[in-house]
This record gives sequence, C-alpha cells and structure tokens, in this order.
Amino acid sequence: MDRRNFLKNAAGALTLWAYPRRVNGQQDAGGVRRLTNNLAVVDGGGSNVLVFSPSPKDFGLVLVDSGAPNSGDQVLSALKNFGSNSKVQILFNTHHHIDQTANNEVFGEAGAKIIAHEHTRQWMATDYWIPDEDRYEKPRAKAAQPTETFHTTGSLKAGTEQIDYGHLLLAHTDGDIYVFFKDSNVLAVGDVASPLRDPALDYFTGAWIGGRLDAMDTILRLSNEQTWIVPAAGPVMTRAEFKAERDMMEEIRSRVWKQVLQGDGPKDMLEAGVLNGLHRTWKDPYKFLYDAAKGMLAQHNKLDPSVV
Ligand SMILES: [Zn+2]
Repeated sequence: MDRRNFLKNAAGALTLWAYPRRVNGQQDAGGVRRLTNNLAVVDGGGSNVLVFSPSPKDFGLVLVDSGAPNSGDQVLSALKNFGSNSKVQILFNTHHHIDQTANNEVFGEAGAKIIAHEHTRQWMATDYWIPDEDRYEKPRAKAAQPTETFHTTGSLKAGTEQIDYGHLLLAHTDGDIYVFFKDSNVLAVGDVASPLRDPALDYFTGAWIGGRLDAMDTILRLSNEQTWIVPAAGPVMTRAEFKAERDMMEEIRSRVWKQVLQGDGPKDMLEAGVLNGLHRTWKDPYKFLYDAAKGMLAQHNKLDPSVV
C-alpha cells in the first residue's frame, strides 16, 4: 500500500482486519488463518504475514513480509503457534513499503536471511523523497535490509517444499515479487492484489497499470484453480477472485487511457465516471486515479494508442 493510506490505516489497523473463509475446516485463532498444514497467514497489524513451517521442523520458519509498524509483539506471539522451532530462517519482502517490512529488523537481528528484489534493497538502503508527505524517508537500519537480492527469478528448498520467486515488473513498486510455495500451491503476491484496500500504484517508483496487468497475468500463468493467492492485506483469494480483479484493472486501463489521450486529469476522470459500475467502491478514488494517470504518462513511450 502507499504511504498515505498507511498513515490513515495505522490507527485503525486492527479494525481493518477481515476474517475470510475458513480453510480446511480450521478456525482462525489468535490472528492466525490456516491455509494448509504448513502455511498460515498471521495478522501483522492489518498487513498479512505468510508463515511457512517446513517439514522437517528443524529448518525453522519461512515468512513472506514481516508486518506493519507496531505489530512486532503481535507477530512474534502468533509465531509461537508454529511449535518449538519458531525461529525465522528466511524472510521474503514482497516490496519495500513499511507495512510489509516494519519488523524486518527483529528477524534480521535474530539471524534470518532476508530475500528481496534488488530494487527493494535499494529503497531501504538509502533515503528517498516522499512527495505525499513532503519529506525524505530515512534509510532503514542495516539489520532490516535485505541480505540476499535478485533481479529476475530464484528458487530454494525449505525442507521438502519447493519455493520459487520472481520479479513482478512495475506492478505496485519497482521491486515487487511473488513467492510461490509450489508443493503447497500457495502464492504470495504482495500488493499486486488488493481485495480489501484500493489498488495502489506507487508511480514514484515507476509502477503503472500496464505493469500491474502484466504482473497479474504472470500470477495467472503460475497458478491453477486450486491455488490460494495471498495479498499484502485482506482476505486470501481464489484464482477466480484474482482474475476478476485483473479484468477490472484491464477495464480501468482502457478507460483511463482514453481520458489521458483527451488531456484529462484525475478530477476530470472522476467526473467522467471512469470508476463507475466496477462492482467495487474506492476509499480514495481521486488518489487512485492521480497515481494511475501519473504512471501512465510516465510510461507513455510504451503505449500505442491504436491498440488500447
Ligand atoms: Zn505497498
């Protein structure tokens, strides 16, 4: 999610926590949603922390994202549900936003390997400008920064589980990744899916709707009807639910592009009703359209008006 929404949501993070369907007959308990025998989603202060407990147990835990600010105690306490070896061996970051990386330092200091896209490391290692807040964000502590980065794809074994991961180019930031627990058929996609919050395009990093659609198509190619898709926040999705969000983004891309060609800004787009009739309400439609238009203009060299 973006920073402005993060600030808005921080105070009400717990109230945002939505309890989705029960999976495998398991009940949610203590902020933990079981997906399979080995995988669960933990409430990281309104953000999802995906926890994988490999077999054999001596491997330690694998996490995807570490939670939002002020969720450290909550996440650590939830991890105790995963048995005596609740040490985190590997932490993936789906991108650099603070809602996904706030507890990195806790796990990094305890010796976890932190895997992320190289761009994510770069955002976390240097200060950068936040236009919404008119200030520079400070670099993150060394222990919070990714220790292993990649550019395209990678894979590893955690116990008997095959974990594949890869870059989702300019979908939400410039460092988004998926993490696919192949044997369990559970696919974490970070903020590239937004079942609960407004889809966010961090145009300042280069993200735009075209990148998001390409990334969503990659996710569809990797998954099948049985795959659980885990977003950065909100309920776990079926592939059909994810596909519906992808198709909605396609419709928005086409509508927004038409407006951009006419020289319209986000206010004109809102008034023209580009978000009408989409079976979804926006919490901040102006902000979404502002970012969408900025991203599209920044990527105009990739757009061919004749095919949109
Ligand atoms: Zn984000």
